[in-house]
Amino acid sequence: MLRDAVRSLAEAKIAPYAAAVDEEARFPREALDALTANDLHAVHVPEEYGGAGADALATVIVIEEVARVCASSSLIPAVNKLGSLPVILSGSEALKKKYMTPLAKGDGMFSYCLSEPDAGSDAAGMKTRAVRDGDSYVLNGVKRWITNAGESEYYTVMAVTDPTKRSKGISAFVVEKSDEGVSFGAPEKKLGIKGSPTREVYLDNVRIPADRMIGEEGTGFATAMRTLDHTRITIAAQALGIAQGALDYAKGYVQERKQFGKPIADFQGIQFMLADMAMKIEAARQLTYAAAAKSERGDSDLTFQGAAAKCFASDVAMEVTTDAVQLLGGYGYTRDYPVERMMRDAKITQIYEGTNQVQRIVMARNLP
Ligand SMILES: Cc1cc2nc3c(=O)[nH]c(=O)nc-3n(C[C@H](O)[C@H](O)[C@H](O)COP(=O)(O)OP(=O)(O)OC[C@H]3O[C@@H](n4cnc5c(N)ncnc54)[C@H](O)[C@@H]3O)c2cc1C
Repeated sequence: MLRDAVRSLAEAKIAPYAAAVDEEARFPREALDALTANDLHAVHVPEEYGGAGADALATVIVIEEVARVCASSSLIPAVNKLGSLPVILSGSEALKKKYMTPLAKGDGMFSYCLSEPDAGSDAAGMKTRAVRDGDSYVLNGVKRWITNAGESEYYTVMAVTDPTKRSKGISAFVVEKSDEGVSFGAPEKKLGIKGSPTREVYLDNVRIPADRMIGEEGTGFATAMRTLDHTRITIAAQALGIAQGALDYAKGYVQERKQFGKPIADFQGIQFMLADMAMKIEAARQLTYAAAAKSERGDSDLTFQGAAAKCFASDVAMEVTTDAVQLLGGYGYTRDYPVERMMRDAKITQIYEGTNQVQRIVMARNLP
C-alpha cells in the first residue's frame, strides 16, 4: 500500500518536473511541497516527535519510489534522515524534541556535514574546529559537498574538539542556518542529481550553546559512522529506484521501437539484456531490504550489510542505466529521453556516503 501510494504521488507530482529540474539545475520545490503535504519528506522521524514513524524498510520504499522518477527529489527524504539520524541515535531528549519536531512538521530540512575539501574518504582528517568558551562552542572551518546546503534549516556538523585524539577528538553539533557566521558557497556544477543543491558550508566564528552538542564530547565521529551504517541503505534504495526507472522506461521503448520490420523487443539479444537488468535489480532489492531489516533491528552485522547493499545496488544502477541508454540507441543518448539523466544520476551513488572503494574497505574489515 505504501509503495502504491508513493508511486502514484511520484508519478503525478514529481515525475512531470524531473527533466526541467535536471535541465535547469534547480531545487525540486514541487517535490518538496508534494512530499511534505503527504508526510513523506522525513518519514523516519518517530511518532513521539510528530513524525510518521516509518521503519527502515518503509523509508527505503519511499526513497526508492521517488528515485524511480527523480533521483534529485529522492535526496529530500534521504538526506533528512542522514542529517537528523545523529540526533536520533545520540542526542539528548531535549535536542530530539527541539529539532525532530520542526523536521517532522516540514518546517526545516536537515543536512549532514562531515566532508571537507581535504577530508573525504579520510573523514577523520577533518580540520573544522569547535572550541569551548564558557557555555558555548565556537566553530570555524569549511564543510564541502553538503547536500541541500542553503535549503536546509538544520546542519549536523562534525568538528574537532581535541586535535590530539584524531577520530576520538571529534564531536557532533547541531548548527542552524540562521546562526551568525554561517554562509554557503556557490552550487556545484555537477554531472547528475542537478536538482539537489551541493554547496560548501562556511563556519566563521559560529557561536552556539554547548547543549547543541550531540552526545558526549569526542563521540561525534563514532555517531557519524553509526549513522552511515543505517543511511547507506537509503543510498542503495536510491540506486535501486534509479535502476528500476531506467528498466521500466526501456521495457516500454523496446516494444514500440521497430527495426527490421518488428519491435526490437522480439530480438533475443534485447530480451537477454532486459533479463539481466531485471535480475540484477532484484538481487540489489533483496540485499537492500534485508539490510533495512537489519538496520531496524540493529543487528551486529549491519555495518557489513549496509556497505554491501550500497556498493552492490549502486554498481547495478550504473550498469542498468548504461544498458538502458544502449537499448534506446541514439535516442537514449539525448535529453529528449530520461535514461541519459538516469545514467548521470546513477553515478553519484557509487561515490557519496563513502565511495565504493571505501565500502569494500568497510566490508573487508567486517567480513561475516
Ligand atoms: C553530489 C555530492 C553530494 C555529497 N553530499 C555530501 C553530504 O551531504 N555530506 C557530506 O559530508 N559529504 C557529502 N559528499 C561527499 C562525499 O561523501 C565524498 O565526495 C566522498 O566520500 C569521497 O571523498 P572525496 O571526494 O574527497 O574523494 P577522495 O577521498 O579524494 O577519493 C578519491 C578516490 O580515491 C579513492 N580512495 C581514497 N582512499 C582510498 C583507499 N584507502 N583505498 C582505495 N581507494 C581510495 C576513492 O575511492 C576515490 O576513487 C557529497 C559528494 C558529492 C559529489
